[in-house]
Amino acid sequence: MGRRTVAFFQVTCPHCHKPTLLGPNGQCFHILKGGVVCGYSLPILYHEGNSKYRDKYEKHTTPPPPDMVSGVYSWAPASGDYAQHQEFVMASGSLHLDPAFNYLFLWTTPRDNKPVANVFYASSGTVIAATVVLMPLNSKPQNYHHFYSNYEPHFQYLADGPGLIIEAPDGSHADFRVYRGERKPSSLLHTYHPNAQSGQRIV
Ligand SMILES: [Zn+2]
Repeated sequence: MGRRTVAFFQVTCPHCHKPTLLGPNGQCFHILKGGVVCGYSLPILYHEGNSKYRDKYEKHTTPPPPDMVSGVYSWAPASGDYAQHQEFVMASGSLHLDPAFNYLFLWTTPRDNKPVANVFYASSGTVIAATVVLMPLNSKPQNYHHFYSNYEPHFQYLADGPGLIIEAPDGSHADFRVYRGERKPSSLLHTYHPNAQSGQRIV
């Protein structure tokens, strides 16, 4: 079975600030002054990330601090797993909405029903196995990173399958727009406005 790449992100390039289409492996092809290719790509490996990505990478590959008394904390047991999972969720994640926390995210189960990480609930002191890699899309593209969870019944499925383009809000529009195939009006599948908490299924 070939690996399909599901999601591409239509974003404003963090490097050259022009609109560009980025996937887990692609890079920005805009030509800069002087004729050089921009070359920006979304971070996957630790050293590719900015300080925020590296902080999250470290957090989600390290057990929780012993003095943690509230909140939820998830981590993968091996550091190299985090990069693999980041690539995997970008390549094959399916697009969902969490209406409780009001964000779109990609999620996937890299090992089907087998655990890939641990989740610690500080209030009860319990640790459970996590099967889901979940990457919220409510941050800047250069900060996209995942955490670990299990599937929640309130998650709402929006779309998956090859050729998905997820257009993040930018200066010209405040909603997410999800396309299939090409970014044009006739291929628009969904819109989602985080501030208005309103989504619309187009087809
Ligand atoms: Zn660029």
